[in-house]
Amino acid sequence: MDAIEQGKIELIMALRRQGIRDKRVLSALERIPREIFINASFRKQAYEDHALPIECGQTISQPFVVAYMTEQLQLGDRMKVLEVGTGSGYQAAVLSKLCRRVYTIERYRTLLKDALKRFDELRLHNITSKVGDGAEGWPEQAPFDRIIVTAAAPSVPQKLVEQLKPGGIMIVPVGIAGGRGEQNLVRIVRTEEGVKREELMPVRFVPLVEGVAKES
Ligand code: SAH
Repeated sequence: MDAIEQGKIELIMALRRQGIRDKRVLSALERIPREIFINASFRKQAYEDHALPIECGQTISQPFVVAYMTEQLQLGDRMKVLEVGTGSGYQAAVLSKLCRRVYTIERYRTLLKDALKRFDELRLHNITSKVGDGAEGWPEQAPFDRIIVTAAAPSVPQKLVEQLKPGGIMIVPVGIAGGRGEQNLVRIVRTEEGVKREELMPVRFVPLVEGVAKES
């Protein structure tokens, strides 16, 4: 077994020790090769439990955070899921193993193009994507069973809440990105009466930025 495969096994064991219990989530992380989603110069660190830089000044999230957010979504295999912030495509790839279809939105065309190549290479055919402002959601495809936002919003994006089905769950980092600003992972459950909000844990994400990025 090579060092990368060994690293992967150790990471999965570490995630389990840190409290990730959902076997389907652990198995999805085991099946998606994280090394494909990062720049070649970081490959050796693919299975270390930290975030890594990707193009356009963005980051691929820490494996623990990906596992934790995915577990909190309580996915079912018939579900339709919206992700805001495709980035490298890693989180979308993990989701694609656990639900019927993933819709993912990214504001950088460059990032989305690279992510699409990876989905093709891994033959993940249940991911639909577009360049756009994820804070607007994807009204043509709404409502969603689940929504996951992988960039920090100043407050819970209302348009996304409106695109959740009743009983639907959204996981979103809320707070000011960068500096020493506090961000918390928030879990929203849309009920018939309104929404239930629960703070899960402190996190650090790049900011959710308005509009499509200017680069082509
Ligand atoms: N889920 C990603 C993590 C990406 S980091 C992964 O697995 O690699 C967050 C991403 O959100 C960045 O790529 C950033 O460009 C994107 N982003 C920020 N604001 C956005 C917005 N309003 N709409 C869509 N994408 C956004």
